[in-house]
Amino acid sequence: MNIESKVMNTIKKYKLCNKKEKILVALSGGKDSAVVAYLLKKFSYNIEAIYIDLRIGRYSENCLKEVKKLCGELQIKLHVYDMKKEMNRTIKHFWKTVGKKHRLNNCAICGVFKKWILNKEARKFKADKIATGHNLDDEAQTFLMNIFKGSPKLSANSGPIIKNVSDRKFIPRIKPLFYVFEEDIRKYILEKKLPFVEGKCPYVRDSYRVEVREFLNSLSGKDKENIIRNFEQLQNKMAKIKDDKMQYCRICGEPSRKNICKKCELMRI
Ligand SMILES: [Zn+2]
Repeated sequence: MNIESKVMNTIKKYKLCNKKEKILVALSGGKDSAVVAYLLKKFSYNIEAIYIDLRIGRYSENCLKEVKKLCGELQIKLHVYDMKKEMNRTIKHFWKTVGKKHRLNNCAICGVFKKWILNKEARKFKADKIATGHNLDDEAQTFLMNIFKGSPKLSANSGPIIKNVSDRKFIPRIKPLFYVFEEDIRKYILEKKLPFVEGKCPYVRDSYRVEVREFLNSLSGKDKENIIRNFEQLQNKMAKIKDDKMQYCRICGEPSRKNICKKCELMRI
């Protein structure tokens, strides 16, 4: 099945979004999120985009440049969140301070901050959904990593759509590329000649993920798909036993599973 029908099927089957909703696409400058924006636009969904400028030097500048080019070409309204302006800090500051204290790698810290920012901004722009570029390879990696770490329950809150229907402050996140191989996204973006930044962030410090990624790449596509199928079966069962109630962070007021959200927890140094 080609990538376009695959994405369309995922949207329909999992009811990711409908044409009445406003969808905020989180653009990173990379190929995956660019393809998400391109396809949602092509399928005539109502989309806007956001770029979170972490201010990590030339890499962020290049990404922003490509994101602007993409949004110009596709005629998508772009919001830029400047971390330096909004938080008075760049992500580098948090890597150094928070990373050391909590023994977290750069990517883990970025992940927490990005999720927090996206949810808050999506609400600000009255978006009904947030779309991200996660693909099948990313998801298989995360699922395996959670298993290797002995915490498969962490995967309970994953899938093509992540929602918490009981919470009005939580904006559901959708992953239209959930069933698409990274390799196919690469081929597609080159074919469509969309602007994007090649390669990973130069500050990636997640050697464990890299190891798992290499292992997965030694498997066939069929194997990778089977991993995701396993995940789905487990997930249905785990969703039933999941009992964490959403509450609001005592510090920032954002939805959180604990009384202080991950981002505020990290910032309490
Ligand atoms: Zn908080």
